[in-house]
Amino acid sequence: MSLNEIRPWRNIYRRKSRQIHVGNVPVGGDAPISVQTMTNTLTHDVKATIAQIQACADAGADIVRVSCPDEAATNAMHEIVRESPVPLVADIHFHYKRAIEAAEAGAACLRINPGNIGSPERVREVIKAARDHNCSIRIGVNGGSLEKHLLDKYGEPCPDAMIESGMDHIRILQDNDFHEFKISVKASDVFMSAAAYQGLAEATDAPIHIGITEAGGLTSGTIKSAIGLGNLLWMGIGDTMRVSLSADPVEEVKVGFEILKSLGLRHRGVNIISCPSCARQGFNVIDTVAELEKRLEHIKTPMSLSIIGCVVNGPGEALMTDVGFTGGGAGSGMVYMAGKQDHKTDNAGMVDHIVDLVEQRAAVLDAQNAQDTAAE
Ligand code: SF4
Repeated sequence: MSLNEIRPWRNIYRRKSRQIHVGNVPVGGDAPISVQTMTNTLTHDVKATIAQIQACADAGADIVRVSCPDEAATNAMHEIVRESPVPLVADIHFHYKRAIEAAEAGAACLRINPGNIGSPERVREVIKAARDHNCSIRIGVNGGSLEKHLLDKYGEPCPDAMIESGMDHIRILQDNDFHEFKISVKASDVFMSAAAYQGLAEATDAPIHIGITEAGGLTSGTIKSAIGLGNLLWMGIGDTMRVSLSADPVEEVKVGFEILKSLGLRHRGVNIISCPSCARQGFNVIDTVAELEKRLEHIKTPMSLSIIGCVVNGPGEALMTDVGFTGGGAGSGMVYMAGKQDHKTDNAGMVDHIVDLVEQRAAVLDAQNAQDTAAE
């Protein structure tokens, strides 16, 4: 029985969207909410771009977007696609030829706004290339680059203008009988983004890509994204997401997963529950947690670990976690396994010991999952 069945206040009812595919990743419907990021290497630097995609995939990215500003980039896409462990979205602005080249190179999705491509003939050519090469399309409306006629109509960027822009682009694809698309309506303002996404969620059943664009640096952008995306996800809106940070793309992936993990929407790796520490701590909680976060990055199995400074909250938190450690006196603390007191261990070797225990527990959980899958 899942936690949500016995604790209904944890339930999130996802908006029903239709499902499309970005390569082998389903987006929308009952598919898990996918986490995306975008490379910031020069795309024609094939080695650097592949290395960055690999690092993002290792951190859990389901889909990675790559800019295709020129022909050198779309030429490079052939090899990048071949080497990439995850499907790639080619980011195209305006130039319809780049879109066709990217589709031919094997991109799984084109991020392009059909209304910006130009003549209906060019639109048809891009859609034909997408169809021929099994490519989906992401319409990406941005509050900062709305069409002039909408700015004239609404006076300034606003949610209604963004929704109208999105629906105009959707209509062009639908008129061409193309339905493998998802859509985003991003703004750097959290209120505008959230309102635009809510309106969009009512207006279409297309899968929705959520994001707060240009959110800022690692700390401020994480907070802004957690508020904006967290609220949308809590309302059930969002089939795929990107956290936009002025930081390493790997950080975007980590933050994306943390937002989903906080809402119980996806589970990956070790969820560490730790106290802020105070004078009662039986060991240095902050340093220990920082070291454990690094040492446990390789664990993909969803599981929980509580690292609590003293008995005030330690035993209570350990009740709910796979592995727990609570600081005590005299340089040692208590280890809990599956919520139960298990054994004492010295503070000196605790990090190594906890890493061992987590790895062992992950192996047990993986074996159980494999058995359950085989039984199904
Ligand atoms: S659990 Fe103990 S050490 Fe941690 S903050 Fe609370 S009282 Fe302080």
